[in-house]
Amino acid sequence: MGTDAATPGHMSPDEFRRQGHATIDAIADYWQALQSPGAPPVLSRARPGDVLAALPARAPEHPEPFDDVLADIARVVMPGLTHWQHPSFFAYFPSNGSGPAVLGDLLSTGLGIQGMLWATSPACTELETRVTDWMAHALGLPRSFIAEPDASSVSPGGGVIQGTASESTLVAMLAARHRLRRSDTRAVPVVYCSHQAHSSVVKAAMIAGITEEDGTARVRQIATLPDWSIDAGALREQMRRDLASGLRPAMVCATLGTTGVMAFDDLAAVAGAIETAGSPHPVWLHADAAMGGAAFICPELRGPLAGADRLDSLCFNPHKWLLTSFDCGLFWTRDSEALTGALSVTPEYLRNAASNAGAVTDYRDWQVPLGRRFRSLKLWCVLRHYGLEGLRTHVRNHLKLAEWLESQVHASDRFELAAPRPACSPLVCLRLRGDASTPELAGALNGRARSLLEGLNASGSAYFSHTTLPDTERPGNPPVYIIRVSIGGTFTARPHVEQAWRLLCDTPV
Ligand SMILES: *Cc1c(COP(=O)(O)O)cnc(C)c1O
Repeated sequence: MGTDAATPGHMSPDEFRRQGHATIDAIADYWQALQSPGAPPVLSRARPGDVLAALPARAPEHPEPFDDVLADIARVVMPGLTHWQHPSFFAYFPSNGSGPAVLGDLLSTGLGIQGMLWATSPACTELETRVTDWMAHALGLPRSFIAEPDASSVSPGGGVIQGTASESTLVAMLAARHRLRRSDTRAVPVVYCSHQAHSSVVKAAMIAGITEEDGTARVRQIATLPDWSIDAGALREQMRRDLASGLRPAMVCATLGTTGVMAFDDLAAVAGAIETAGSPHPVWLHADAAMGGAAFICPELRGPLAGADRLDSLCFNPHKWLLTSFDCGLFWTRDSEALTGALSVTPEYLRNAASNAGAVTDYRDWQVPLGRRFRSLKLWCVLRHYGLEGLRTHVRNHLKLAEWLESQVHASDRFELAAPRPACSPLVCLRLRGDASTPELAGALNGRARSLLEGLNASGSAYFSHTTLPDTERPGNPPVYIIRVSIGGTFTARPHVEQAWRLLCDTPV
């Protein structure tokens, strides 16, 4: 027999090289195909169960050639993909990929690093410290968020890479709750955000146990101003009411670029509301800049950061609009002790000399999981490949496209802007013009907008998503159906936005 039955058939280095080249070729071909006239429909046409039905019910007992796997990517997986990298993907928010990011991610996987402790790969921790500091400088964030504000000092603040903004908002809330309980062990915490804030705020409160007796999140969703940013006066009044009934404000989550319409909360006004609400404890101020933060790479677009020196934490996803493949969620805080106080548990098997000496950062204490990927590699590759100037150009190009689209909307008799577009937003929100003077007419207009959107998405030529907004002028009406044109894809350029606009205008309603 001669062979050892316990040894699996690993890919030989030569086979790995060959299949690796084939895989990279497949990705490069895919990117080219997406930008060519024969591109597949943006939105997948798969019906529920199609992909499952094309896959065997059990794993293979015996080895199969990797060529067959690659062939099945084309045959089984591709038809079940909605193409986020398609230049006519205008739905939700973009999920930017790029050559350097993919290669950085591949390196991270290939090196097989698990960076839970500094000691388990010092480069994984220290590169992360360096690139989060680089990004804090590049976005014009407060100095208190920088781990090494200058060559000789270390601060209690710093950045870390999480998977997503939802995780960042959760750890911010855990830190806020920890800090509150440290000064008042019996405090009953409350969280505040606007009704336009992302659902991850409510979810984080559910996870953190900041809930009412019936299990719903104890999150106050505050009214907004006409531009859909939080009404700071209403925030202060709600905090006062809660304080008067014995509750304790733990955290306010301000949003810098809301998911629905990219509204920016006024940080200085929010901080002012917190100061004048009369809380006996400091209230944690977190900013969710998941999408909007990308614009801050351009110095002329940092208006929404006025008041940022009052923030305790901020999160931002380079994987949305800054050419870094999913997933990469940056989180900064000026109070890492509150964070590690909330999250650090040290069993014997994780003890090591460097950690014991307090000489190093162990990012496991800054996040929910223990294990961590070497995510800083891809961001490092992106920053070095494009340079900050390249990233600024990417952002400015898309903002010019959004400006162009907005000017078309102003001249259109079919659509009007559904919400103001801040200068740093690449999202254009449309509503159909038409008679909405009664709830019935408004409902019918909504129905026409919905079928327009569904028809366009089914055509495969482009993909848009929607939201609704309350009708502030006619509160008796149903919420207004909004078509969101979210510009920001890696390959999205002028011709794609022009085509999208033609589709929106020329498709019968
Ligand atoms: C996209 C988005 C999120 C959610 O991001 P994840 O990283 O997917 O959790 C949260 N907040 C805002 C404002 C967003 O735009």
